[in-house]
Amino acid sequence: MLEVSDLHVSYGNVEAVRGIGMTTSPGKVTLVLGANGAGKTTTLKAIAGLEKPHAGRVVLDGKDITGLAPHKIVRSGVALVPEGRRVFSPLSVGENLRMGAYVADRTKSAEMLERVHEMFPILSERAGSAAGLLSGGEQQMLAFGRALMSQPTVMLLDEPSMGLAPAIVDSILAKVRDMADSGIGILMVEQNAEAGLDVADDVVAVARGEVVYSGPAAEARDNASVLRAFLGEAALTGPGD
Ligand code: ATP
Repeated sequence: MLEVSDLHVSYGNVEAVRGIGMTTSPGKVTLVLGANGAGKTTTLKAIAGLEKPHAGRVVLDGKDITGLAPHKIVRSGVALVPEGRRVFSPLSVGENLRMGAYVADRTKSAEMLERVHEMFPILSERAGSAAGLLSGGEQQMLAFGRALMSQPTVMLLDEPSMGLAPAIVDSILAKVRDMADSGIGILMVEQNAEAGLDVADDVVAVARGEVVYSGPAAEARDNASVLRAFLGEAALTGPGD
């Protein structure tokens, strides 16, 4: 279980995250909603060790991992899939996946690769292709697969549907559900709130660096007007609708 409590992160003298807390546990998807600039990406980066929080705690299965070096956080079981996917374009799909296993327990790499290929058969079919030649949806699957290769117990997903054709969004989010159902806990930032709510168990809404709502996804779905009040219309219709 990942427990983030009272997290504070600043850029210079601007406090972007002001006391945010959220949790996720094995098999669960926690959807993080909020308008642009609310502090969602900063929260994920701070959990992953890419920004240093100046207060608060990140605890994974009872172990305090706050502010550890990013590779140590990956090794402890938390994998970040960044916004924009950031696959290594000139490298092949197979090489990208092997990079994901870099800090992991090497004895389990072959087994993980098999699981990744089972979950994303396209990554096996395209193993020798340059990652940059994949479609956006395929690159997102590669980014998921690369993160899975580090054998995470928790995954942090930053806007997995961003820039994808609407027809692909549901299938990518269905993969997020599959990854959770395999026993991983997921914290997912997603602008496409309606599609995100379909696969989420819990929702945390963030505004101006603070949590303004948290509850079960079913309740949030029924209370769309509540979320709209916090987040604005755009957050509930998603970009491009
Ligand atoms: P978006 O959906 O636009 O990515 P977000 O909710 O993820 O928004 P953050 O990217 O976490 O928001 O940004 C929170 C605040 O911190 C914003 O005011 C942003 O301008 C500021 N910020 C983010 N990154 C930096 C940085 N590297 N240096 C300075 N300020 C930053």
